[in-house]
Amino acid sequence: MGLTKSGKMASDWWRGLLAPLAAVVDLVYPPACPSCEVSTGTHRSLCPACWSRIRFIERPYCEVLGLPFSHDLGRGILSADAIANPPPFDRLRSVAVHDGVVRDLVHGLKYRDRTDLAPMMAGWMLRADDGCVTGCDGIIAVPLHRMRLLSRKYNQAAELARHLSHLSGKPLLPATLMRVKRTTRQVGLGAKAREDNVRGAFAIRKGGEGEVFGKRLVLVDDVYTTGATVAAATRALKKAGAAEVSVLTFARALSTPI
Ligand SMILES: [Zn+2]
Repeated sequence: MGLTKSGKMASDWWRGLLAPLAAVVDLVYPPACPSCEVSTGTHRSLCPACWSRIRFIERPYCEVLGLPFSHDLGRGILSADAIANPPPFDRLRSVAVHDGVVRDLVHGLKYRDRTDLAPMMAGWMLRADDGCVTGCDGIIAVPLHRMRLLSRKYNQAAELARHLSHLSGKPLLPATLMRVKRTTRQVGLGAKAREDNVRGAFAIRKGGEGEVFGKRLVLVDDVYTTGATVAAATRALKKAGAAEVSVLTFARALSTPI
């Protein structure tokens, strides 16, 4: 939907007011590559060298786990892992392999208050989503426990989900899923320990059942590692009657090179 004439005038007015401010911001914080800090022409964009080092995850891949195949076996093919251990979610899609530049972006957003990176990262996620955002009824971020949120100030997954919602026009469901159990950090834990750690950690907010029952949802996180966290979150959503859960992450840990 376009802006009304008065809306457009107001937005032009704001732009006019903010332009000098943007110039000052550029002087104080000149546009730089968020990974290697070399100067770039615009904010929130990588330099060509960093961009070329990113290992994007593209087809051919397993339709469920999004795991890249070395050979194209045709559409609709599942990996052996997806057949032997079907995940609770319906599909998993990620932008790129979690290493190098991609790890820098994830760390910047998560630990260095670089929330300004979220719009760019969400834009990439929207291109890697394989249509699951376009076809969904709502977007949900993997929540932090409220005590962790207090110490961290913001939830990096929620930042990505907020911008995904803004870019796609799909509803954000910010309070539907809750983290009801304080878990230890997953970093450094093995697959089985991660599973035990997050079991029963998620629940639907009282009164939020209608936002889940019969709905096609996109569950957003920054990184997919063993999948224990998104699997536990998906189980809570499916238990509440979600019709479909697609997991969308920015980065994905891959043990085998592609
Ligand atoms: Zn760079």
